[in-house]
Amino acid sequence: MNISTLDELFDRATKTTQIIKNKDVLRHDYLPPKLPHREEQIHYLGEIVAPVLKRDRCSNVFIYGKTGTGKTAVAKYVLSRLYERAQSLGVPFQICYVNCRLAGTEYRILASVCSALNVKVPFTGLAVGEIFDRFKVALDKEASLLIVVLDEIDELVKARGDMLLYELTRINESLSRSKVSLVGISNDLMFKDLLDPRVLSSLSEEEIVFRPYNAAELYDILFERCSIAFFEQALPEGAVNLCAALAAAEHGDARRALDMLRVAGELAEREAAAEITEEHIRSAEKRIEHDRIIDAMKNLTPHSKLVLVSVYLLNKENISSAITGDIYEIYQELCELTTYTALTQRRVSGLISELDIIGLLNSRIVSMGRYGRTKKIKLNVSRALISKVFSEDEPFRCLIDYSPKCLAKEGSRQS
Ligand code: ADP
Ligand code: MG
Repeated sequence: MNISTLDELFDRATKTTQIIKNKDVLRHDYLPPKLPHREEQIHYLGEIVAPVLKRDRCSNVFIYGKTGTGKTAVAKYVLSRLYERAQSLGVPFQICYVNCRLAGTEYRILASVCSALNVKVPFTGLAVGEIFDRFKVALDKEASLLIVVLDEIDELVKARGDMLLYELTRINESLSRSKVSLVGISNDLMFKDLLDPRVLSSLSEEEIVFRPYNAAELYDILFERCSIAFFEQALPEGAVNLCAALAAAEHGDARRALDMLRVAGELAEREAAAEITEEHIRSAEKRIEHDRIIDAMKNLTPHSKLVLVSVYLLNKENISSAITGDIYEIYQELCELTTYTALTQRRVSGLISELDIIGLLNSRIVSMGRYGRTKKIKLNVSRALISKVFSEDEPFRCLIDYSPKCLAKEGSRQS
């Protein structure tokens, strides 16, 4: 082998791992300079917050739409532009962005609002009312406008109720020199039903809905991002198209589409492939879905876990599709074993519907002729995966090998 062929070989070897150029732009918190297909929402939010530049309080806004539809990105984009403009005009104005899911508690949310005003709050220890008072005093001293962005607010309200929101929506009544506006963002479209009507009416002085992206829109979003994230030769158009189509078929989630690209890029690099192929994208999709299912299972509430294990045990006895009553019988036995107090059959039926939405169970209505209709419920994940996840989950571990008494009594039912 002469020197020049060796050089070529080495060239090729370095080229083949040249897939990802800039991983940072594929991170969830990267804020792109352009947000295609959200011009309307950007414009609308801009209109709503613009009064700040005339030193007026702007209306509260409630933004909602499914995950990955660009809500966080649009809110951050518009508000950072507003902030820059307010600075150059000398308007006293501040923004506090809090992700309520990550903050977790009212205390931590208020602590981050305070830190935006440079008010120090100990990590724990104060009463929530006390922090709230410190926050009001500090804010009124500054004679300023403040926009508080409460992202993923649905998570806070589901876990802890709407008390904090109620207090925040009324805060202007007790301020004399400063004014607060709220931007609430929810991934859950049904969130409004959880709010007290008074809270809802003041939070949603304005409302913006973010619809899911379609495949063509996702393609544009990915295309913009790919040109910064990947080397030009590394990502053929077909792969981007497939990624957009898969994410659009799911629910138009741009985050999922970007995750798919990132994981596919990592797979291609690991294999030292020359480019990302459609196979890489499909493997990435599988991997992401697999991780999502495992996460979903781990994060279920205890009662949902018991319901899922009940269906698992039926499946193990060759009963591949069951009615709610059968599942409920086993669920009650499992509650006894684990010393949980059994919920009513109606509540369990609700949990089954939730497990169906997450994709862990699959239920469908079948017609029984003149006996009416009934719901047949099946496992939608492999038994092996369930037993793997629960074998690491202490109170539920022993249930995986349990033989339900009610099944032993009746002999093995087949369906
Ligand atoms: P949401 O808050 O609605 O769940 P995000 O704003 O976090 O969604 O968006 C998810 C990901 O997709 C982020 O990485 C974001 O940068 C990207 N994204 C969403 N919409 C667009 C868009 N129109 N243009 C470019 N990137 C987008
Ligand atoms: Mg978000």
